Amino acid sequence: MISYGKQSIDEKDINEVIKVLKSDWLTQGPSVDKFEAELAEYFGSNYACAVSNGTAALHLAGLALGWEKNDIIITSPITFLATANSILYCGASPKFADIDPESFTIDPNNVEDIVKNCLSKGKKVKGIIGVDFAGHPCDWKSLKEISEKFEIPLINDNCHALGASYNNSKKYAVDFADIVTQSFHPVKHITTGEGGAILCNDFKINEKIRLLRTHGMTKESNKINQKQGTWYYEMHELGYNYRITDFQCALGSSQLKKLGSFIQKRQEIALNYTSAFSKNDIFLIPNTKKRIEHAFHLYCLRVDFDKLRYNKKSFFEQMKNFNINLQVHYIPVHLQPFYKKHFGTKEGDFPISENFYSKEVSLPIYPDLTKDEQDYVINNILKLTNE
Ligand SMILES: *Cc1c(COP(=O)(O)O)cnc(C)c1O
Repeated sequence: MISYGKQSIDEKDINEVIKVLKSDWLTQGPSVDKFEAELAEYFGSNYACAVSNGTAALHLAGLALGWEKNDIIITSPITFLATANSILYCGASPKFADIDPESFTIDPNNVEDIVKNCLSKGKKVKGIIGVDFAGHPCDWKSLKEISEKFEIPLINDNCHALGASYNNSKKYAVDFADIVTQSFHPVKHITTGEGGAILCNDFKINEKIRLLRTHGMTKESNKINQKQGTWYYEMHELGYNYRITDFQCALGSSQLKKLGSFIQKRQEIALNYTSAFSKNDIFLIPNTKKRIEHAFHLYCLRVDFDKLRYNKKSFFEQMKNFNINLQVHYIPVHLQPFYKKHFGTKEGDFPISENFYSKEVSLPIYPDLTKDEQDYVINNILKLTNE
């Protein structure tokens, strides 16, 4: 079965993990520090904190910004559930802004309208989470202008875009967002099995994130109230166990070395798909805006099902018969029963997101996908369009 995404693990990765398994530290040891230092270096941040997964990273980001009850946070409906759910974990409420029809990332004009609308009702927006959807960075320049004008912190849910460039920089994320979150789930660009990270430049935010990662407890002598002895620790905030293990971080370090070649492979696959599907008016291929290098976590093909003999459901079934497991990214979050029930969202609220959802099909894309497999996917899709 060819699926939409998959990890790429080699002998080197395996050996690095084995080394740690034979060492003294399985968790909270030197491999975590090493991976964090490498992430900070690669993405140009002052600080990096590795955590148990990307959802935990988002939760800690919200807590570090002090989100709480009655706070409003704006995000995109075209994202994984975790982005919006993390707002709720903090007790705050999400408001969705529709996407830009070219990049499928949050539309800054829509964001500004919502901010102004909230202000006119005496409510303040406490955060904006932009999602670098599919590997295409948001319009960070415009989001930053809104952030500065209205003094609203910015988060980049960067889970899809490790290795992307914005204004020719791979270190763009922390230049614009106050906090950047990443995931190392096996379908993402690099993997630690489960895992995630939080990048930032602010000393205080980093300190708070580190405290909350481990139960809100500290042993550092300059932070504790009493001097009792080496056993002594204090808890100052209600934290969590969001730690990652050393053997996962060893895998992360080994994977990070290959991020450049992984991105290159994904871009080659995207080029192959684009040249196959751009000639046919049933399809719309993904766009890349100026001065952007797309990281292609996903290849989002839009299919005009009105022009096909198959609807979306049977199209997916046909492809499954060919052993090709397609996916859709994403069902707009505001259409989930939970969000409809608790936040009164409904069909028609975000027409560009909903239109995108109706057409979107995620084609298989991952570094180990061979040229033959890519062509097999292409030929089977084209075969359906010719029937
Ligand atoms: C994968 C992902 C997450 C969550 O990451 P996990 O590591 O699975 O918890 C959050 N946001 C986006 C956009 C993602 O793709």
